[in-house]
Amino acid sequence: MSSYTKKKIISVVAPVISGLGVHKLFAPGYAGLGQVLTFHRVLPKDNKDRIHNHLSLEISPEQLEATIAFYKKEGYTFVSLDQVYDLLQKGATNTKFVAFTFDDGYIDNYTVAYPILKAHNIPFTIYITTNFPDYRAVLWWYLLEDAVLNRSSIEFTWQGVEHKYTCDTKASKESTFDEIRTVINQSFRVNDYKTLLKGVFQKTEIQLYEYSKKLVLSWEDIRTLSADPLCTIGAHTVNHYPLSQLEKEKLQYEIEESKHRIEKQIVDSVEHFAYPFGKPTESSIREFEMVKNLGFKTGVTTRIGNIFAQHRYKTECLPRISVNRVTTEDVLYLQSSGMLPFIVHRGKKVITN
Ligand SMILES: [Zn+2]
Repeated sequence: MSSYTKKKIISVVAPVISGLGVHKLFAPGYAGLGQVLTFHRVLPKDNKDRIHNHLSLEISPEQLEATIAFYKKEGYTFVSLDQVYDLLQKGATNTKFVAFTFDDGYIDNYTVAYPILKAHNIPFTIYITTNFPDYRAVLWWYLLEDAVLNRSSIEFTWQGVEHKYTCDTKASKESTFDEIRTVINQSFRVNDYKTLLKGVFQKTEIQLYEYSKKLVLSWEDIRTLSADPLCTIGAHTVNHYPLSQLEKEKLQYEIEESKHRIEKQIVDSVEHFAYPFGKPTESSIREFEMVKNLGFKTGVTTRIGNIFAQHRYKTECLPRISVNRVTTEDVLYLQSSGMLPFIVHRGKKVITN
């Protein structure tokens, strides 16, 4: 089952559960001190065909407004990550906070989300993958979406194996997107990885970068944002690799170099980190230790969860709540009460591996 399907099922079941008030039973023990929310892109809806599993990380400006309205209505205080860290160090036990974070460094964080957050005076963090503003990242997931939507079949040979996909229906386009994404993700360490991308997309090396400037924040944008006290700039590695697959030296480079590159550009210290992908298979104990040892105040994963006082000594692996296209108000109730994290982690509050 794709992650989009799972999210969709939760959004269908959520109104029934929240209507019955079941989630309220979890809140006293599992709502915790608050939440850190994960966003990616914020874009107005359009009528173009899209791949659902890819689209799900984008939300509309209206949905961002609705999320803000939800947390205001529920009496949460909007805080920065420095404040999350300070609250934990002070041993806060009785608070209700929410922190907004955006991953990767997309341009719409500045052009669409920022005016909304500014109007509501909401602190937020953007985690930058430094190859984005350096225009050295191939945003292959957008190329893949284009290829799957525009073609009826995709064929390529990789490491002596012929790959052939038919994508002439809506369902086969969805599955082809998932299957080729897996092939690409599993091949990123191979030296001629770009050969694979050129083969899949039938593009020249230069054309592989066609989305780079269009979709990402420039260093100039990042400097403008960081000049606003509402905005915190965090690090999200240089290349956005799944960190657990890297050798130790490469791992350290990815984390340290992204911190240094951002600090050079914004002339401020970078003290917050987000693990790329952030699931247990992509970052775990070794990565958490390194982020802590390199002096970051916080590191955030994509494990679902609320923040508890017990996170005071584990700020290098804070869980988050993802806000995606199917995150309705009912889903937010299930997440913020701690009910969904309780089910996923079987009651465990602090996930350290
Ligand atoms: Zn990311």
